[in-house]
Amino acid sequence: MILFENVTKTYNDGRTAVKGLSFEIKKGEFFVLIGPSGCGKTTVLKTINRLIETSSGRISIEDRPIDDYKLNELRWNIGYVLQQIALFPHMTVGENVAVVPDLMKKSRAETEKSVNHLLGMVGLDSEVYRDKIPSELSGGQQQRVGVVRALAADPDILLMDEPFSALDPVTREKLQNDLLELQRSIRKTIVFVTHDMREALKLGDRICLMNNGEIVQIGTPDEIVRQPANEFVRRFLGDAVESVQTVSPGASLTAEELAEPLASDYQLSNNGAVTIGADTEVGELLRHFAAEERLLVRRGDTVFGLLQREQTLKRIARELEERGAK
Ligand code: ADP
Ligand code: MG
Repeated sequence: MILFENVTKTYNDGRTAVKGLSFEIKKGEFFVLIGPSGCGKTTVLKTINRLIETSSGRISIEDRPIDDYKLNELRWNIGYVLQQIALFPHMTVGENVAVVPDLMKKSRAETEKSVNHLLGMVGLDSEVYRDKIPSELSGGQQQRVGVVRALAADPDILLMDEPFSALDPVTREKLQNDLLELQRSIRKTIVFVTHDMREALKLGDRICLMNNGEIVQIGTPDEIVRQPANEFVRRFLGDAVESVQTVSPGASLTAEELAEPLASDYQLSNNGAVTIGADTEVGELLRHFAAEERLLVRRGDTVFGLLQREQTLKRIARELEERGAK
């Protein structure tokens, strides 16, 4: 639904920030842009809502080039959340989130209903928070309001530029979970920028890894972990995995901790699954998942647990994030 065709952006100083990008973001997809600082992530994001004009190439939304949309129409249909959300300091939470719906002349009653609902979904009881002003909220709460504000006009697309990276790890973890939960019910097309691979693996339906203004690899978390395109991708993944050891020495994740219990009727015989030891650590697990969809976990002769690739990768990403918090 968002189509990039050979998009290049060269800034006035002659610096080319993104070079000939072509890719497609599907409708309802949670699409994560990741890469080192300066690789062009923010530039990509801002070309979508035309905060930055491209130098060449074309971007289309729903098969229509973005230049064909009226700017207001385009911006109203695209919510935007930044790292440091700038709420209007003298307006209440309720007023802050109603700004765009008001501009769009949506009915007050309708706006209030959807805003109350959205506030509830990000864990802010509207009865309690609607009439507070931003300075009465914590950083994490303000960021939640920012997400609600971006969604208040019911846009089809949500752009999020490192929205959680200024928050402490515990709050960040909570907001990630809330966002996943929220996305399950609202199904927006989300383009989410981060430089944190753990966050990308946890949130993304697909991940686009960039370097120097170019795409290095696009794939599902599974594909990225299973088939990293090159050393650069492996290094990015490696950092995410290694941080367990460095942050929390001696407490690295094992197969046992990650395994789900085997259902009593699970057919152990002839299902062909590879069996690994209970103490197998994350790095080794990831290598196994390169080839296997499922792993059985044993201690001694007893097989007691099951690891499924998709779920386990998500679990690992979550655990890494939690451990990072300690
Ligand atoms: P990221 O978000 O991945 O950190 P950006 O998209 O912000 O990267 O920047 C990509 C490159 O473009 C960087 O080299 C940056 O210095 C440069 N850049 C960004 N904005 C401007 C600008 N307004 N003028 C000139 N160069 C810019
Ligand atoms: Mg940026």
